[in-house]
Amino acid sequence: MIGPLDASSVGHGARLTIDLSAIAENWQRLGAEAPSIPCAAVVKADAYGCGLAAVAPALWQTGCRTFFVAHLSEGIAARALLPEATIYVLNGLLPGTAASLLAHDLRPVLGSREELVEWAETGRRSSALHVDTGMSRLGLTVPEALALAGDPVVAAAGIGLLMSHLVSAELPDEAVNARQIGAFARVRKAFPGIPASLANSSGCFLGPGSHNDLLRPGYAMFGGNPKPGQPNAMRPVVRLEAAIAQVRHVEAGESAGYNARWTAPEPRRLATVSLGYADGYPRAASNRGHALVGGALCPIVGLISMDLIILDVTEAPAAARGEMAVLIGDSLNIDTVGKAAGTIGYEILTSLGSRYVRHYVG
Ligand SMILES: *Cc1c(COP(=O)(O)O)cnc(C)c1O
Repeated sequence: MIGPLDASSVGHGARLTIDLSAIAENWQRLGAEAPSIPCAAVVKADAYGCGLAAVAPALWQTGCRTFFVAHLSEGIAARALLPEATIYVLNGLLPGTAASLLAHDLRPVLGSREELVEWAETGRRSSALHVDTGMSRLGLTVPEALALAGDPVVAAAGIGLLMSHLVSAELPDEAVNARQIGAFARVRKAFPGIPASLANSSGCFLGPGSHNDLLRPGYAMFGGNPKPGQPNAMRPVVRLEAAIAQVRHVEAGESAGYNARWTAPEPRRLATVSLGYADGYPRAASNRGHALVGGALCPIVGLISMDLIILDVTEAPAAARGEMAVLIGDSLNIDTVGKAAGTIGYEILTSLGSRYVRHYVG
């Protein structure tokens, strides 16, 4: 969206625009990496901060039939939106959750023999088996998985998908990718007839060895670059803009913000925008990040406050009260913003706040 806040948004001071058609198109582009197999969608953490309620139906309409979430509660929310979808709960079977999983027709991703036995006791319902090929996080080790092959508990637990997760898929030259792909292929061979899934967003670009039977992207659907260091083939999804509340002049030697962590080296023009860390914008981007005003790149100066950010708009003649500053969008994509804050675009997305008005387009 372009232009200042309209009457219905002005009470919020900032605006987040989420492009659902870009999400749908990104999902299709990822799927096109392996056109002969289906592409699922990972929509954990409220669809990476973009809003499950809007994102899940958009993906369903585009043709996505399999969804992954992290928690039971996320699965319940997804089920309410997607009555016919296959929904997996990545974090597995926590004690006491089996009845709810069954009630909402959710499939846990089981990661230990204990979980398999417990799930089997519920009466032969669908699930996935997580094999840990290098993350040391969730799932059976490769030797444990190989030893489990042929065990009646596998059928009793209704294992309908084998999966593992890549450690460094976004770094295609890392040797660990080939090791994981090889280990997963061995496990897959031991479970004939059970479909397998390995590829997250970046894994979609690691070739057939990582594709298996089902792609499982998240981040890139939401505009993140699955191939860092190369041009991003994904369409941008989120745009965050905040209104300029005030423009002021400071003289050389005057400081800006809490604890005076920036001092004007010469006379400067500053703009204060109505968005801060309470909106999910990372405070770690203080004195490091940028915003765009009228297309000009303006440094964030001083410490980011809870509700306000100060920009040096000396080089941005368009800066004026009521004009919008772009915090995420155009050249300031989520990967760039993440880097400026010493983190990754994933964290920028999943920190997106709810205090500003959200507009869905497409
Ligand atoms: C989050 C997650 C994904 C998606 O990863 P992206 O890098 O966001 O594409 C896939 N599989 C598992 C197990 C995950 O936890």
